[in-house]
Amino acid sequence: MSKFQPFSVTILGNSSAAPTNNRNLTAQLVTYENRRFLIDCGEGTQNRFVQLHVKQTNMDHVMISHLHGDHFYGLFGLISTLHLFGREKPLTIYAPAALDALLTEVFRVSDTRIKFPIEFYALEDFISEPLINDEQLNIKCFPVNHRIPTWGFKFTEQPKRRKIKKDFIEQYRPTILQIKAIKAGEGFNAGQGQNLLHEDITVEAPSTRSYAYCADTAYYEPIINEIQHANLIYHEATFDSTLEQLATEKFHSTARQAALVAQKAQVGKLLIGHFSARYKDLNPLLLEAREIFPETYLSEEGTCYQIE
Ligand SMILES: [Zn+2]
Repeated sequence: MSKFQPFSVTILGNSSAAPTNNRNLTAQLVTYENRRFLIDCGEGTQNRFVQLHVKQTNMDHVMISHLHGDHFYGLFGLISTLHLFGREKPLTIYAPAALDALLTEVFRVSDTRIKFPIEFYALEDFISEPLINDEQLNIKCFPVNHRIPTWGFKFTEQPKRRKIKKDFIEQYRPTILQIKAIKAGEGFNAGQGQNLLHEDITVEAPSTRSYAYCADTAYYEPIINEIQHANLIYHEATFDSTLEQLATEKFHSTARQAALVAQKAQVGKLLIGHFSARYKDLNPLLLEAREIFPETYLSEEGTCYQIE
């Protein structure tokens, strides 16, 4: 296992409400090793997959933040395509509860009998427990502040074990069983009364990385607690500061407000996105955010950002 496992997010769409000639509606793909998690699925998501040569085989989880059309109208088409391509394994969908009946109805009226199982989980049921908590990842959702119920998502790697020093292995040639014991936290009996301590024969584990998607939201301080110290966050920045009043009315954020959240949560890097279609030049948004939080970047569609 390499020190830096692939843990990244690829932006598939970052336009708010309506697409522009170079920006699609919201969608992003989180990759962890060979697993793929789709967050939101605006119209045009499938086209981005084709353009970026993204194989959908390992995409087993879809998370929908809220039920505004620009975040999920692409899902029906995506499911149809997976069906046409002969998918058999289940697809797990985490979304607001109301989507379940809607999916059933759309496929009923179009007389489409999806060949693979869709396992649907309502986000409302995960207020106090993670969506996923397995040997690799802990994924949780958290409420944000939008016009309708909306959730953000945080992906956190599970804590890693300390690594055995190379020179120890070369010198003492431990057996597989002994290696297992050391990995589980034990020391090593080198014979002749020589007991080596676990801390002396291992090096510190790489730190745990995390990524948070803050969804569509007004400036909302409870988010800060949810995303503390994340290595990377994506926070919407629909407007620039001159339109702060409009942002408040529409339950969206300005670039400056996104930067404030990043600064207060002491995250590593901030990606801003969900830009209003009115902006051709996004630099003013970047500049106002960087005044507050210098590690701000404009999210670019088609770009893969490592979480490190
Ligand atoms: Zn939106």
